Amino acid sequence: MPELPEVEVLVRHLAPLLPNRTIRAVRVHRAAVLAPTSTRAFAQALLGATFCGLVRRGKYLLFSLRGAKRAGPVILVGHLGMTGRMYLLPAKVPLPRHAAVVLDLGREHFVYEDARYFGRLTLDTTALSKLGPEPLGADFTVAGFAEALQRSRQPIKVKLLDQTLLAGVGNIYASEALFRAGIAPMLPAKRLTRAQVKRLWRAIRETLRHSIAYGSTVPLSYAGQGARDGLFYFGRTPGAPEFYEERLWVYDRAGQPCAKCGTAIRRRVQAARSTYYCPRCQRG
Ligand SMILES: [Zn+2]
Repeated sequence: MPELPEVEVLVRHLAPLLPNRTIRAVRVHRAAVLAPTSTRAFAQALLGATFCGLVRRGKYLLFSLRGAKRAGPVILVGHLGMTGRMYLLPAKVPLPRHAAVVLDLGREHFVYEDARYFGRLTLDTTALSKLGPEPLGADFTVAGFAEALQRSRQPIKVKLLDQTLLAGVGNIYASEALFRAGIAPMLPAKRLTRAQVKRLWRAIRETLRHSIAYGSTVPLSYAGQGARDGLFYFGRTPGAPEFYEERLWVYDRAGQPCAKCGTAIRRRVQAARSTYYCPRCQRG
């Protein structure tokens, strides 16, 4: 699943391409991805609207637009779900099979494609109000983090996925940050020492920054319709399919030797999600 770094890289890629592009037609192939916005309300707000900007909040993409004629500003909220992708496609290229929403921008189409339809492109902004601080922002402090963890009996790995605690950290980077911090994923959140909280706080930021920097080196451009075409998706591009995984310390590496100590990486299921960790490096 795309997490904060993947969304950030996508936002940095799309942000300079969209300003001043006007939507000439709105095509919705899968109304469910707009929910709870209706197709009619969606088309009405976006037809004739012009893109102004794009920013990221957690795992969400926030597109801002000027409404048509004298209509007010419009905020369009995007989420990639598990398999979503958003990109500009030359108008002459046939649309992909799973195009959920297509916005006609003239020479190009803005396409939201999603094979499993768990993502969103909607005018509904309520999900944003529940989000915790941005892990890379000034609001995410050691003191605030410590206080929130002290109130939770959940295993620290499970707690890190709580988007009200922290916006944008998901399954991959939760495992990675705990490895960097040397903390066992099963440890109840409230049992972390002050020193561990500080290490984890730093590890989360380092892990995300590193991944964004890494993802930013991947060229993003539409090149085809394969799962591994030229679009950034989980950091994979053709010709370099495995390099992304190589920079992950533990995620999806069960049975492989830990890069630091050689012990076999373990997998365990927590709250129905896979956790990967090194039993030797993460004893704390
Ligand atoms: Zn190890």
